[in-house]
Amino acid sequence: MTHDVNTLFVDGIVLTMNPTFDCFARGAVAVEDDRIVAVGPVDDILSAYQAPDVVSCTGKVIIPGLVNGHTHAPMTLLRGLADDLRLDVWLLGYMMPVEREFVSPEFVRLGTRLACAEMIRSGVTCFADMYYFEEYVAGAAADAGMRAVCAETILKQPAPDAYSYEESLRKCRQFIEHWQGHALVTPAVGPHAQFTSTPEILRISVQMAQQYQVPLLTHVSETAQEVIDCLQEHGMPVVPWLQANGILETRLIAAHCVHINENEKQLLKAAGAGVIHNPSSNLKLASGIAPVTRMLQRGLTVGIGTDGPASNNDLDMFDEIRLAAFLAKGSSGDPTVLPARQAFAMATIEGARALHLAEEIGSLEPGKRADLAVVDLCQLHNTPGFERDADNIYSRLVYAAKSTDVTDVMVNGRWLMRDRSLLTLSETDIRAEAAETAGRIDRFLMEREESVLSKLLVIGGVRQEESFEIQVKGILKENALQHVQQALSHPDIVVTKQSHYRQFDSYFFFDDADLDAERLRFREDEIINERGEVVDARNRLTLIGRGGEREFPGAVMLFRSRFIAPANKSLRFYQEYFHPTSVRHVNKERRRWQIRYKQTVFAVNLDKLLQPAMDNHFVELKARTWSQKDAERKATLIIELMGLFDQVDSVVTIPDGYVDL
Ligand SMILES: [Zn+2]
Repeated sequence: MTHDVNTLFVDGIVLTMNPTFDCFARGAVAVEDDRIVAVGPVDDILSAYQAPDVVSCTGKVIIPGLVNGHTHAPMTLLRGLADDLRLDVWLLGYMMPVEREFVSPEFVRLGTRLACAEMIRSGVTCFADMYYFEEYVAGAAADAGMRAVCAETILKQPAPDAYSYEESLRKCRQFIEHWQGHALVTPAVGPHAQFTSTPEILRISVQMAQQYQVPLLTHVSETAQEVIDCLQEHGMPVVPWLQANGILETRLIAAHCVHINENEKQLLKAAGAGVIHNPSSNLKLASGIAPVTRMLQRGLTVGIGTDGPASNNDLDMFDEIRLAAFLAKGSSGDPTVLPARQAFAMATIEGARALHLAEEIGSLEPGKRADLAVVDLCQLHNTPGFERDADNIYSRLVYAAKSTDVTDVMVNGRWLMRDRSLLTLSETDIRAEAAETAGRIDRFLMEREESVLSKLLVIGGVRQEESFEIQVKGILKENALQHVQQALSHPDIVVTKQSHYRQFDSYFFFDDADLDAERLRFREDEIINERGEVVDARNRLTLIGRGGEREFPGAVMLFRSRFIAPANKSLRFYQEYFHPTSVRHVNKERRRWQIRYKQTVFAVNLDKLLQPAMDNHFVELKARTWSQKDAERKATLIIELMGLFDQVDSVVTIPDGYVDL
């Protein structure tokens, strides 16, 4: 008496990934509706079950579908857009500006369809995602028939799908309520990372994750800088800070964990967190190598992810599994660590455990969801095969098999690919639509690259401040400070403010042939108190029009600066982002007096150049101006003022800015 089921996979090697790692050399799997009902030797299964759909798997291996533990699926559409850059330049200079401009429900849906097509082809049946408009990721994944843990991303800064984090949190709540209980999609909360969250974001995220009993996804200690910043800001590394904010009391899925110490591993282990290792992304962005072997020794649950396809650049889990194994060996100098079976487990049952889904998926066991893939072992690159060692099958899968060897994929009992043909997605349509989107992004970036200003605007925080400054500069020969103080004691001059600082300027030039072309100045001011100590610092970025816009008699120059941005990123960031053809540095010590002379405010600067070092001191007289008439009047006053300085001792005026000296 045989029992009727829907599908029988027969005559393949069945790799169960169950707790005892059972493997059937000539095995079979019976599937009924969305579940696996039986797994075992083919003769046993065939004597107990019959099905209208019998799939011969001769020369193939039947595996639990692979679990991609961390990705940003819609970013397939940004694949290869900007590579070989540092994480901050890549993220803040390219990804985020393009995302702000292009990410929409349509973009997310298309990118997810592309990602699903690619993942199904490579044997992935479940992925964990964090992006914007996550309801469209979930929708596209469900339509494609894939299983997914989908987390709506929450950031403290405005996101493509929300003006504020309050809005993101609201959207996240609605998203969870809508998708909870879905057969394929597990909704989740996704505070992006510690450094993009506020304690309030973390607190509310935890509340939501607990209230709805859903996972919480976040990026943890991806870069060393993140840890340094967290230590500086909160006096502790990232994981204790997350713990202090309740994050460890959720079903946590922590991506990366590249830079965590032993105590942090212990905390994550005690919290039952799933860690997702993203070897390609960590290498490509030079974030480092996660201490996977150590984590596994400590009993942590570690899965494998591709991370977003913009930092990988594909979603190929076969690549990731192999790289995870190789990296563990290469970085430890020990070829016995992370053997093939363990690496393969990280992409199946352990990956499922890391996503808190091990009850449902990750192994081929009766009662589990029918998520499985069939891999052809007869390709040349996997020939021949040996049977002496039972674990040899893991070696063949991890060290030789390729994603293109996957022939058939089923998720939740539904066929997504048969004989290498996708059944739920049209590759032709996806290709055409992706090419159209890429064309639009290309045009946007090409326009932006046309001017320094548009590149500046794109990274945000820029204030248009058209400012004209009229100024004269002179060289003081000796006793400069006394000279200036004596000149300022003139009865017609009232000193209203005094300050003292060191100024570090870096000028970016974009056209060495044209010295009048636009240039960008990164300025760091260190404010110095009476005791000579640095008490404050501020940075800003100014786009300076041309060198001297106009020259008045007496070497009085009109300068123009157009845009100012508070420079919250490093000089190195701007240098890599703007790609100047040359950079010149001018460092000086500046004493500054704000004065009133004939009802007009002027600034008097006494500068000593430190780099390039010069013996002379320079005195500058400056005033802001806003009209032709005003500029002319101030030019006259400035010459009068310079005359007062000249009475004290002779001053040689010069027409150039420091950077041109
Ligand atoms: Zn990520």
